[in-house]
Amino acid sequence: MPLYDYEVKSKLPFSGISIFSTMSQLAAEHKAINLSQGFPDFEADKELIASVNTYMKSGFNQYAPMAGVMKLREAIAGKVSNLHDTFYNPETEITITSGGTQAIYTAIAACIHEGDEVIIFEPAYDCYVPAVKLHGGIPVLIELNFPDYTINWKEVIKRVTNKTKMIMINNPGNPSCSILREEDIKQLQKITLGTDILILSDEVYEHIIFDNQTHLSMAKFQELANRSIIVASFGKLLHTTGWKIGYCLAPAKIMAEIRKIHQFMVFSVNTPMQYAIADFIAIAENYTTIATFYQQKRDHFIALLKETKFSILPVSGSYFQLATYEKISDEKDLSFCTKMVIENGVAAIPVSAFYGRQTDYKTIRFCFAKKDSTMEAAIERLIKL
Ligand code: PMP
Repeated sequence: MPLYDYEVKSKLPFSGISIFSTMSQLAAEHKAINLSQGFPDFEADKELIASVNTYMKSGFNQYAPMAGVMKLREAIAGKVSNLHDTFYNPETEITITSGGTQAIYTAIAACIHEGDEVIIFEPAYDCYVPAVKLHGGIPVLIELNFPDYTINWKEVIKRVTNKTKMIMINNPGNPSCSILREEDIKQLQKITLGTDILILSDEVYEHIIFDNQTHLSMAKFQELANRSIIVASFGKLLHTTGWKIGYCLAPAKIMAEIRKIHQFMVFSVNTPMQYAIADFIAIAENYTTIATFYQQKRDHFIALLKETKFSILPVSGSYFQLATYEKISDEKDLSFCTKMVIENGVAAIPVSAFYGRQTDYKTIRFCFAKKDSTMEAAIERLIKL
């Protein structure tokens, strides 16, 4: 039988190519301005890039230790204790991963067994549900309230069972752009108290938070930190999504299980980048100024969007702006976005793609991690809608 006739029984029969790849490809085909996929179109810090280069030229090119370069783990411990006043032990509680995505996948692989229920809030970042399903877990999908994307805690209480193994949090949220408040923390504490429920807290946008609001990391609350795996990404912090470096934090016993899988999945992550990032984040200013940088971008993009017929939704964090288009069209968000790329030359993401049931509030997501000139050129096109 020729090789190409061989059919693999799919483990994810209902998954196709992600909406990000689809929209980016469509944008390229139509030479559209791509505000769909979440990546900056400006360069990372020149000194950081030069530093990676220096480490490469100085021979730091072989396998890093399995859990990550110690210098970087120590720098992360310093950053976390500076921001949240909690100490994670670099030896046993911090692991460097190939981006946030691998951290999430590995954490789920380590903790989720056949039949375990995992609460996931929708709209949900696209890698959550497949990772749970691939490990025999059952995603329990709960929609956030529209339009402020807050958590419906009454619904959460109803859906928690004795099979609930994990609650996934995304704070700040993509694509919700909302953040957790004190009240949410209290609810989480109440619901998990006396249970063995774990929290997988995707905090990849931890540094991109606006209007002087505080990022309520799980690391700040001891009883939550004790049951949490916290995921972070240097791609978001350093404008280097292509480097695919992130990390996770977890109490030692949980981390030991995560590392058992991590070692067989990637073994370890790019060495020279780890050294350069360690030096870079040892200077607090390099992570504390990022919120102001992106707030200026958000405000500029909002001011520009006001010239169009889009209605703007509130954004507390992340580098995305949500907008509704009810004054322009009543078609479904996917067809609206598809037409917008082809006819208007601007790509965005339809938010229904982040729901299992394609819930459609006629809302689309723009990425404003772009040069001012890119945003301005996009708005010139969108004004015509
Ligand atoms: N979680 C969320 C919410 C994200 O938006 C992303 C990246 N778009 C990731 C995780 C993955 O991060 P990384 O690129 O570091 O794998």
